[in-house]
Amino acid sequence: MRKLALYWQILIGMLLGVLLGLVLSQFGWGSQFVQDWIKPFGNIFINSLKLIAIPLILGSLIKGISDLKDISQLSSIGFKTIALYILTTLIAVSVGLTVVNTIAPGKHIAEETRTDLVTRYASDASQKQADAQRQRESGPLQALEDIVPDNIFNAAANNTNMLQVIFFAIFFGIGMILIPEKQVEPVKRFIDSFNYVILKLIDIIMMAAPFGVFALLTALVTEAPSGDLFVALSMYAFSVVLGLTIMIALYILAVWSITKRPPVFFIKGIAPAQLLGFSTSSSAATLPLTMERVEEHLGVHKSVASFVLPIGATINMDGTSLYQAVAAVFIAQAFGIHLPFAAQLGIIATATLASIGSAAIPGAGTVMLVIVLAQAGIPEAGLALIFAIERPLDMCRTVVNLTGDAAVSMIVAKSEGKLKEIKQSS
Ligand code: ASP
Repeated sequence: MRKLALYWQILIGMLLGVLLGLVLSQFGWGSQFVQDWIKPFGNIFINSLKLIAIPLILGSLIKGISDLKDISQLSSIGFKTIALYILTTLIAVSVGLTVVNTIAPGKHIAEETRTDLVTRYASDASQKQADAQRQRESGPLQALEDIVPDNIFNAAANNTNMLQVIFFAIFFGIGMILIPEKQVEPVKRFIDSFNYVILKLIDIIMMAAPFGVFALLTALVTEAPSGDLFVALSMYAFSVVLGLTIMIALYILAVWSITKRPPVFFIKGIAPAQLLGFSTSSSAATLPLTMERVEEHLGVHKSVASFVLPIGATINMDGTSLYQAVAAVFIAQAFGIHLPFAAQLGIIATATLASIGSAAIPGAGTVMLVIVLAQAGIPEAGLALIFAIERPLDMCRTVVNLTGDAAVSMIVAKSEGKLKEIKQSS
């Protein structure tokens, strides 16, 4: 019998998870049962993905860089990657602003719904505000300073230090390029074989993916807030989702016109990673699968994918920046604050920077949203307005975040002559 493709398996896992969640929420004991007996399996799955993220980045980035012929090749890929990442983020924020100004979802929020939401989610909002305050207290060059670790073992011991690990891996790879072939040979062979082991581990973890997403979605459905709040926020959610859909369409078009790979090819190749990103709400946790899909199913050469994707997972968050722009304007509209053109331009700048600074984990975009709100003079308490629908939108924006990285990696690979012809089977 032919084995079902991974995205079908994941999709079935998701659907069954949602169904079971819906059934169990009908019972008083359902939610506790899910917390005790189902959610832990989802957490174990996410943990195993995160477990592999740092070794994967170290191994594949060092290999990718050390395989480059010389430093000029690295700077060419590096320059294109960063330029495309900034460009796509700017486009995403602009799409978000256009959509939210056209639909004006904040004007549809009734006065009493607003008061209800603000009281109900006040404590969640102040928690995010406190997190954001810690980020804000740092100096202007703090982000740059934070990239260089003072101890690689400390850096690798914390999943939120991804940029530090990336810095070390690039630095180490550069060292390898600069020494004679004979001297570097043993390290290269070790890294090669280390990578094979990591790839095998990813294969093994992926076998559990349908079960992992099943557990995650069951838990999510039983934890979801009441439906009437969703309805109140539906115009806002619609604006975010519409913007995100436009971004996906733009990626498909860009990949199609630049790399000549048709839409079906791109979507089929990246779909399992999108489904996993949707279920986990974390582009960092999804990174191992994104890398596998991009290399094996979209044809991007390892030396490009291993550089472009880990950096993208940490700094390129088009979905997050779009969401921040829509949310900021939505809150302003709900509070009846008029945002002049200059303030909206300010949002483009801060949402771009805030998305770069957001960690690739669930909810990170909302912490950084506080900074966007503060810059634009929008009341931070307004954050409470959007909490009811925060998680589903986080799931959607994570899909866009990783799809953007995949699209950029294909474009960079094409321009470097490192995009292979691939026949997709699953
Ligand atoms: N969850 C998103 C990601 O991991 C980040 C965010 O927008 O909160 O890509």
